[in-house]
Amino acid sequence: MTFDTHMHTELCGHAVGSPREYVSAAHTRGVDLIAFTCHVPMQNALFGERSTRMALGDLPRYRDMVADAREYGAQIGVEVLYGIEAEVFPDAAEMAAMDEVLASDTFDFVLGSLHHQLRSYQERIARKGWNSDARIIADYFEALTAAASRGRYDSFAHPDLIRIYGTVEPFHPSEYETLIREFLSAAAENGVCIEVNTSGYIKGVHEVHPHPVIMEWAAEIGTQFTMGSDSHRPEQVAQCFERAYAELHSAGIGSTCYFRNGRKVEISLEEQTARSGCPI
Ligand SMILES: [Zn+2]
Ligand SMILES: [Zn+2]
Repeated sequence: MTFDTHMHTELCGHAVGSPREYVSAAHTRGVDLIAFTCHVPMQNALFGERSTRMALGDLPRYRDMVADAREYGAQIGVEVLYGIEAEVFPDAAEMAAMDEVLASDTFDFVLGSLHHQLRSYQERIARKGWNSDARIIADYFEALTAAASRGRYDSFAHPDLIRIYGTVEPFHPSEYETLIREFLSAAAENGVCIEVNTSGYIKGVHEVHPHPVIMEWAAEIGTQFTMGSDSHRPEQVAQCFERAYAELHSAGIGSTCYFRNGRKVEISLEEQTARSGCPI
């Protein structure tokens, strides 16, 4: 069976297509299970208003849209799960406000992302007066490490997103191996996954998230993975998954996971590639 547990809806303002179209695309590609994970509403406009995330009042509509997609999916053999892409941000007040929103609903799957490219994080950097990339990169991974034990997230989306979008100069993960290993260990200890995010292939430095060397460290440490295309259009569902399976396999990883009702289900790569015939 194959699954893709990271995709958006038009409610966030920068994705297109109805949830049913994503379900159809999954069906066409032989994907058995998908999770919608649209961007969580944030009260603070620095996280982006209408152009980057749904409004707080849209949450019930989001739930209805996913419920409708689930009904449709049941008819054509695609299981649809209800998830959300939450923020990771090193500020307790922001996190408390977000936690209230998350607690107002029941999700199958909660992703955590530190979107450093948003004004929220850019203003944090300015406020701190940081002008060294090393300080910013440390802050990014320390925030993820701290978030691993919060009990809020099931998986961290694109965990090395700091490598793209220009907040810092491009760098190789080996330069920050200790910090990144600390994060991977914290995730493993808390049963939190990290995501193989295939949108990396088509943006930034055109590499998978996380970088293959981070996959190797995760394999050593025992950090588990989820699979996400980060689709913002229906045709992106399960994009480049064959490449990702091959990278995982060469890094020594034999399975990935999805979450239903907050419970982790682990599936071997053999089972995920059985139908496609992808030679892992
Ligand atoms: Zn998005
Ligand atoms: Zn996303």
